[in-house]
Amino acid sequence: MSLSEDFRLPVACPSCGSHLMRVSQVKNPDDEVHCASCHRFICLWHEAQTVLKKGPCSESEALIEKAVNRVNR
Ligand SMILES: [Zn+2]
Repeated sequence: MSLSEDFRLPVACPSCGSHLMRVSQVKNPDDEVHCASCHRFICLWHEAQTVLKKGPCSESEALIEKAVNRVNR
């Protein structure tokens, strides 16, 4: 039984370039989205939803870059 779910993000993971992301099945707005292949934190679920709605554009890339850097410590 899996408690997480994979989905495709329009913006690639900055570490490995994969578009496959993983989120918990509960999908709370504040749930963390991680890269499915390298497990790096990407963004929060509500941010991922914004990116999914916008599609692959510079705005989406900027949003993901900001989210990734926010917790990059
Ligand atoms: Zn990755």
